[in-house]
Amino acid sequence: MVTILSNATLVTGDEGRTILYDSAVAVRDKLIAAVGPTEEIQAQVPEGEVVDCRGKAVFPGLINCHTHLLATADRGILEDFGFPTSLRFPESTRSMLSTEERQVIATLGALEAIRSGTTTLLEIADHVGEFAESLAHTGLRLVLADNFNDVNPDRLRLGAFEFEAHRREEGLRRSAELVEKWHGRDDDQVTCFLAPHAPELCSPDLLREVRDMAEARDLGYTIHLSQSRLEVEAVMRTRGVDPTHYLFASDFLGPRLVAAHCRYVTPAEVSLLGSHNVGISNNAAIAARRGAAAPIRELQAAGCPIGMGSDNMAEDMVEVMRAGLLHERVRRNDEMWPQPEDVLEWATLGGAQILGMGQKVGSLQAGKEADLFIVDTFKAHLVPTLRIVSGFVHNGQPADISGVMVRGQWLLKDGKTLTIDEEDTIRRAEKISHGVWGRLVAKYPNVPFPVKLPPGPAH
Ligand SMILES: [Zn+2]
Repeated sequence: MVTILSNATLVTGDEGRTILYDSAVAVRDKLIAAVGPTEEIQAQVPEGEVVDCRGKAVFPGLINCHTHLLATADRGILEDFGFPTSLRFPESTRSMLSTEERQVIATLGALEAIRSGTTTLLEIADHVGEFAESLAHTGLRLVLADNFNDVNPDRLRLGAFEFEAHRREEGLRRSAELVEKWHGRDDDQVTCFLAPHAPELCSPDLLREVRDMAEARDLGYTIHLSQSRLEVEAVMRTRGVDPTHYLFASDFLGPRLVAAHCRYVTPAEVSLLGSHNVGISNNAAIAARRGAAAPIRELQAAGCPIGMGSDNMAEDMVEVMRAGLLHERVRRNDEMWPQPEDVLEWATLGGAQILGMGQKVGSLQAGKEADLFIVDTFKAHLVPTLRIVSGFVHNGQPADISGVMVRGQWLLKDGKTLTIDEEDTIRRAEKISHGVWGRLVAKYPNVPFPVKLPPGPAH
């Protein structure tokens, strides 16, 4: 099977950040067979379906290095009440969803991801295996991670940090089962990471065992790091050091690690992360919503490769890129850094590298797998196309994306999703989300809730 995307502007995303005009990408099966001037490629690869991309730009697919798809059910509510949330419900909506409901909500998140040009995502959830099959059907390249910790939750509610071997063993067993079942599945379309949740919730034993398991099985692993002031305070209180030094003392830091957030890290933590080449998931949009900012420039300068993630309530990586640019410029009062090309690199090649797939995806280069998206630039907000990456990072919208391909397969073509029943998914997800919030509020009538929910779904 050969597809030639011809007459396009190609944002190759290679290390030289090359842009090619009037050019073509030839895709044979799952691989990019050739990239170059349209006439040359058509002569080289005469067979195959030609897709005329005149007026369009082809980008390497976006890589979301940190997300929780089920949080899309909390959209419009949990963005605005802080983290950890100031809403005092004793349980989350996520924990109240049935398996079938989880599958629908995860598919809703995947749909939004695909429509925003995402081709790979690292999904972290408790019992992620319950909806892994639904996600695999979407055709996305997946990295799945089962979220766990070994703290006693009942004691935690009383402010005590007590760790239990049986929770640790259970979490590790669940991760091992996920890896057994999913790692390398469908010719590596799905791989797995390990995901101990956060420093304050994990004992040194757990951290060491995760690191050992990752090294022994050649896996990546991830953790939320310096996500909240509460976390920093709790680790200082229980371990006597900041969260990064606690991870370091537990032999947890290394180049296989993706640390998400890093909002409150000190200069000493930054240099420790840098000297261990820890990958960072820069979750800029949710960070902005939380009124916090990670020191991205400093982390990068210290030696940390940077990727990007959406985290909670949204899967729109176009927005994540824009937030990454604006947030970092505001944080440093800097009019010129980062440039849009820097941000695109974090969301493509940078993400591929920290997920351990930099040789395979992240740029449009012959020999890599064909993960890409197509932008229709004939839009009022995208012309003139003098500097396409800047135009798209500053002004682009998911609605500009007309095509998405993962491993040579179309997930979105001519604006239509091919792997997800879009209307059915949206309708069911709307109903489920209204239902679960209604159940939560009804179950805890004494918990103050400053939102007046509508009487029912709009669709
Ligand atoms: Zn997270």
